[in-house]
Amino acid sequence: MSVRVQPLPGPGLVVRAGELIAVCAEAGAETDALVALVRRVAADGGDGAALIARLAGQLGADGPACAAAALGDTPAILVRGAADVTADGGPGRVHLHGPALTYRTIEGPLWTVQVSLPGSGPPDPRTTLDAGVVGGAGLLAQLPRPAPAPAPPPPRRPDRSAPFEAVIVLPGHAPEPDPEPVPETATHALIEGVYCRDGHFNDPDQRYCQICGISMAQLTQVTRLGPRPPLGVLLLDDGSTLRLDADYVVGREPEVDRDVAAHRARSLRISGPASGVSRRHVRIRLNGWRVELEDLHSANGTVVHRPGAAEPDQLSPGVPVVVPPGARIDVGRRWFRYESHRDPQT
Ligand SMILES: [Zn+2]
Repeated sequence: MSVRVQPLPGPGLVVRAGELIAVCAEAGAETDALVALVRRVAADGGDGAALIARLAGQLGADGPACAAAALGDTPAILVRGAADVTADGGPGRVHLHGPALTYRTIEGPLWTVQVSLPGSGPPDPRTTLDAGVVGGAGLLAQLPRPAPAPAPPPPRRPDRSAPFEAVIVLPGHAPEPDPEPVPETATHALIEGVYCRDGHFNDPDQRYCQICGISMAQLTQVTRLGPRPPLGVLLLDDGSTLRLDADYVVGREPEVDRDVAAHRARSLRISGPASGVSRRHVRIRLNGWRVELEDLHSANGTVVHRPGAAEPDQLSPGVPVVVPPGARIDVGRRWFRYESHRDPQT
């Protein structure tokens, strides 16, 4: 695949190794280590998602700002610290920014990726980077883009009753529609956890591995950074099930929420006649290994029934509360349950 990569001038280093491109902020020996890591990961091969996941696993949460993109099959992008990545392609625009170490797989072909650190300038059109390392604080990668099919002109019916209206017709210059919102793609937060003897990533507070059930008691509890696994499922009163691997905004019109619009949370639409559900009713937030609920000042409130508790709890609006597995959550006259095979007391 012929990808044109142009460095953006500024302090830092731009690396191109195999299918990986990356930008690292200038930080002396730490930058050299980053560049070496990018090259090592690229040399091991794999598709874009695998390269980025491996890079994320070895990067750690702290260190100089950096950002990377893997442009092969299953493209993926990553960011840490004061860095931005904007990827445009078939599914629309995906934007990642720090400071948290975050990475994401792009569903569909990529056309351009722009990576920038603070202080980066516009690319010099005469420069390209085919392989290796050069100075720079960002990069612009352009991939071969399929020629768009010509759009048929919209049919216009003369309406004799309408007032006269001038229409400029420029064939082939129809305005491009705004990029569609990106469909659901997984955002993998990296969190502190412990690995069982068989390499399963776990909540440090759990006494048994949640995958294989092995006791964790004998292991030295050294926490490491790893991708957060799904924390369980949401079971809705209508029988549907959602995997809990991202934040959600629950409501009658959750799309109006700013976090949903910015792809920081998914929308979970719960409605129905006389449901008593507000447009934005409750926010479900994954915080480390915990699931938190925050009532979004809903009209009818949010009520949590904890397993084994005598009385349900009414959430105070705007105050996030940790809910245990097995809890039932009432939103108006609808409800959902948070289920997980984790110990309910944690
Ligand atoms: Zn295990």
